[in-house]
Amino acid sequence: MTDTRRKKLKTIYVANSGECFYCGRKFITPHDPELTIDHIIPKSLGGEDDDGNLVPCCSKCNQEKNSYLPSEWIIRIEFKIAQVQKNIKIRKKMVKSLKLLKIREEDLFS
Ligand SMILES: [Zn+2]
Repeated sequence: MTDTRRKKLKTIYVANSGECFYCGRKFITPHDPELTIDHIIPKSLGGEDDDGNLVPCCSKCNQEKNSYLPSEWIIRIEFKIAQVQKNIKIRKKMVKSLKLLKIREEDLFS
């Protein structure tokens, strides 16, 4: 990281109380290797390199957000949540079916 980049990160870190802009993860120091700078509007979509477009971001959020706009990223997160909820429903059905099978097994071996 260049000195200019390091200074920018420190300024952004202070301005945002040392928290990841997206998940709120708190960083004790701006020198934490997990702390990155994110362009709210990705550079690939014309986002500027100015303070209004730069936020502190943990590496996990930065990786997940990738080069999506925040609105696109939210849709992806909501989709993931919906998938997880769907999987939970499927698992609940499986547990129910397995419980029924267990009862049948008990009947067979009693
Ligand atoms: Zn984060």
